[in-house]
Amino acid sequence: MNIFEHGTGERKRLALDPALRFTHAVIEGQFVPRAGDLTARGKRQERLHERAALTTSRVFGSRVFVRGVVEISNYCRENCTYCGMRRENRQLSRYRADLDQLAELLLQNRPARITDINIQAGEDPVAVREIALPLIRLLRRETNLGISVCLGTLRYDEYAELKAAGASIYIIKFEMANPRLYERMAAPGTLPERLDHIRHLAATGWNVSSGFIAGLPGETSRALLENFRLAAELPLAGCSVSPFIPGEETPLSGESCGDIELTLNCMAALRLIRPDWVIPAVSALNLAEPDSGYRRGLRAGANLATINLTPADIRGDYLLYKRDRFIMTEERILSAIAAEGLAPSTQSLADHYATRLEKFCESTAA
Ligand code: SAH
Repeated sequence: MNIFEHGTGERKRLALDPALRFTHAVIEGQFVPRAGDLTARGKRQERLHERAALTTSRVFGSRVFVRGVVEISNYCRENCTYCGMRRENRQLSRYRADLDQLAELLLQNRPARITDINIQAGEDPVAVREIALPLIRLLRRETNLGISVCLGTLRYDEYAELKAAGASIYIIKFEMANPRLYERMAAPGTLPERLDHIRHLAATGWNVSSGFIAGLPGETSRALLENFRLAAELPLAGCSVSPFIPGEETPLSGESCGDIELTLNCMAALRLIRPDWVIPAVSALNLAEPDSGYRRGLRAGANLATINLTPADIRGDYLLYKRDRFIMTEERILSAIAAEGLAPSTQSLADHYATRLEKFCESTAA
């Protein structure tokens, strides 16, 4: 199904179909990015970013969601060419976080502004069982934090267990929409399988956030544009774009970094395609453009910021890109948000998704 070609008038049916429940804005929207939008500079780029920022504030006001992330394991059974945690990286010392340490950190010492916790890892079913599940149960019992997970493609019964434990948001990027590039980059499993999992998660009640990497070596502008079409077709509640960062211990270490301007233009395009999406400012923006990249993300359509809470002794080994990656501390995040004239949301992301769906169903049932 190509949502870009949908007419209006189907909102009610779509609202009732859980796999499609977040697609209505696309049906109403007209924005289809062109190559010129993604390469825009100067005045045209300014206008694009301003339009995206205005759209964000129209839908979300000046609120930015603030979540914490804990990276619970860097074991990975995948072998993505671009990722430092790939299984063939034998330089990397592998860790699984200590559950008690995480529990203490999250129950007693978390930053006050955090409304949600994202639990992330390489693709490691052991960490799902031994760390993620008990941690989610604990957080569900002891706090009202929203819980998202980013744990890769798992078995369907594992997704169900994570949801029963109390997580409600699944973050699973499709990485790149072009099938040949996906294969060349040895991205997780196969593209059809990754997309099946995204659809399955949405159909079983998860709020799914996906995303892609911009500026991969060998990516044509056509391949880049394919990402938007795919993102709009999928049943997503949020979408991200991250600049490609040449990982130090990967076969792509000699390649150049994804262009920050291109990435920001992609973020603005995502916002215009889907005004209601939750779009994160990713920490890699600061690697692509030290210090200012992140703030520029908040100015180009982003409405979600992430404070890194991974304990310092293991953080260095969660190697997506480089060892000296830019750590987004509480102070850096809150000052970036304030400097942009924005404010942390008091409502959690999980709550936002839940109430948003209720409101939408009410409005279409009338
Ligand atoms: N195992 C989980 C989490 C993977 S790491 C999963 O499969 O979803 C989270 C994300 O980091 C990946 O989805 C990928 O898009 C991104 N990433 C990894 N290496 C990267 C790189 N070199 N440049 C940009 N993004 C990268």
